[in-house]
Amino acid sequence: MTVISVTLITACKNEKKMKENPFLTEYSTPYQVPPFDQIDSTDYLAAFIEGIKQHDSEITAITDNSAEPTFENTILPFDKSGKMLTRVSKVFFNMTEANTNDQLQSIASKMSPLLSKHNDDISMNAKLFTRIKAIYDKRNESSIDTQQVRVVEKYYRDFERRGANLAKEQQDQLRKVNEELSMLSIKFGDNLLAETNKNFKLVIDKKADLDGLPEGVITAAAEAAEKDGNKGKWLFTLAKPSLIPFLQYAKNRELREKIYRGYFMRGNNGNANDNKAILSDIVRLRAEKAKLLGFENYAAYVIDENMAKTPAAVDAFLNKLMVASLPVAKEELSEMQKIADAEGGNFKLQSWDWWYYAEKLHKQKYDLDEKELKPYFSLGNVRNGMFAVAGKLYGITFTKVTNLPVYHKDVETFEVKEADGSHLGILYLDYYPRPSKSGGAWCTDFQSAGWENGKKVDPVISMVCNFTPPTGDIPALLTWDETSTLFHEFGHALHGLFTLGKYNRSAGNVPQDYVEMPSQIMENWAAEPRVLKMYAKHYKTGEVIPDKLIEKIEKSGLFNQGFVTVEYLAASILDLDYHKLPAPAIVEPVAFEKKAMAKAGLIPEILPRYRSTYFAHIFSGGYAAGYYVYIWAAVLDADAFDYFKQSGNIFNPELAAKFRKYCLAESGDDEGMIQYKKFRGQEPSMDPLLKRRGLK
Ligand SMILES: [Zn+2]
Repeated sequence: MTVISVTLITACKNEKKMKENPFLTEYSTPYQVPPFDQIDSTDYLAAFIEGIKQHDSEITAITDNSAEPTFENTILPFDKSGKMLTRVSKVFFNMTEANTNDQLQSIASKMSPLLSKHNDDISMNAKLFTRIKAIYDKRNESSIDTQQVRVVEKYYRDFERRGANLAKEQQDQLRKVNEELSMLSIKFGDNLLAETNKNFKLVIDKKADLDGLPEGVITAAAEAAEKDGNKGKWLFTLAKPSLIPFLQYAKNRELREKIYRGYFMRGNNGNANDNKAILSDIVRLRAEKAKLLGFENYAAYVIDENMAKTPAAVDAFLNKLMVASLPVAKEELSEMQKIADAEGGNFKLQSWDWWYYAEKLHKQKYDLDEKELKPYFSLGNVRNGMFAVAGKLYGITFTKVTNLPVYHKDVETFEVKEADGSHLGILYLDYYPRPSKSGGAWCTDFQSAGWENGKKVDPVISMVCNFTPPTGDIPALLTWDETSTLFHEFGHALHGLFTLGKYNRSAGNVPQDYVEMPSQIMENWAAEPRVLKMYAKHYKTGEVIPDKLIEKIEKSGLFNQGFVTVEYLAASILDLDYHKLPAPAIVEPVAFEKKAMAKAGLIPEILPRYRSTYFAHIFSGGYAAGYYVYIWAAVLDADAFDYFKQSGNIFNPELAAKFRKYCLAESGDDEGMIQYKKFRGQEPSMDPLLKRRGLK
């Protein structure tokens, strides 16, 4: 009912504005970037409604065609359909993450059910599926080329996986399950947001309780308290930039326990925001969905599309890594226990002690102080460094352009050119946090690389980060973590910039457990001594980073890797265990988690990186049965980089050309492993990853 009223109201309200809505026509800006200076929040809803309408009529034109279905009259127009809807969606969903406001959030909640219904309508469009199936059934006898066969197979599988082959009654059931799932995910996320931002506060009123905390952290806590109406006190919250320094530095052990308990009990407090029943429902419905679609469980349904292929393969992979990393984590624990004992602690370390003693161990073992490093990592130098690495590998150049419209004054734009000077694409860089931006860092696009009317469509890529901003005369000085993150996102950007391919369904389209390889591999270059000397220069004096500091960076790369790996693996195993349950999947989350973690051999001093009731990746994000993908891709990136190193030249032009061609540009042309092997000549080995993390 609401769906219809929303449509009608906006349709009449925006009747007049439609003519000037910038989404309704192709952009007339240079390089066809979004005309941000002409977009009003009010344009989105009208453009969405019109976009869905246009998409529907494009599909009707395909299904009404009385000619025998062919690649040219069915697959091709379907692959190119929904262009206007894509145009508005790309800008809108980028803005709800990078530069949102109340109006956009409310449009988002109106549009989500409309868009999911639109998608189900397409997937369950019997006339459309019949045409696709006819082409699919004859794909090997017809004259279409290999890429076209692949696109046909991909579309056929998409429809099948979304229920196109089911009887009407089962399709209705599936629609209901999808609808329920989408609402439960939103509820899970809303509850978590309230639990993180509202339901827990650590207000400190005694200065002594701040013992150990760095000055900057204390100032930020005082400012937060004042904003919260507690002037003269100090406020700590469960947001990572507040929580982590407290766990790392606060001497008061009871308070560390208090804040960490606040963190790990989120969604499990028996209050109105409790997520236990919600996640049980999600697990049950997903198992049902998998069964409807003919899979043994939801993990099998998801992983069927990935490089790993089966839950059993992921299981074996995770367990192998767990066996390698648990002893290292235990060793880290015993080293920390020694420090606590030497200080006369007289207690056994608990989960809330890990960050505090790890920090002490860090100082003791590596003598590395972030403050010493930061002057060498000004944002400008790091950015130029990553551009230079891409230049050395691929010959491309980056030129700042100032005449393109941007959505915020802090955003910079660059034109990317090939070695021969021809245009490759546009890159947007958005560095600093602001209240309108989500946390974390990511890379997206406003226009994917593609192909239209016999011509290449150039990509418009965007990288969004939340880095330490500049203060006064001092430029933004990045932490080592932020430096790696910038290189990481830049790796995604290069993947997007280099992508080639004539069809939307396959160009750059890689499995979920491949996606993080092109990004993670760039982190390797960032940390190479030879590369550090190229870009890590003191922001005041221009002095190149001293060897002594480079050595410390190299050594401390191994620091705490047992813990980091184990907490990540524990969460991945928990994710997989939930989604391996066959229907009817009835779970009691607390008991389920306990059993799963005991089976994995997890020690009580380490909790899974995400516990069930706040595991947003899998219960409100897109990572269900897929949290493992980061470390799966890490095997690939470590192996690929090792190949460069073994060749004796980390900028080996031959390998770079192969990597660009097979792993980036043509990444969607074939299965992930096949593309990887075209570059590498063999399957990846797990050894380089184990060595990099000090696990072997
Ligand atoms: Zn990434």
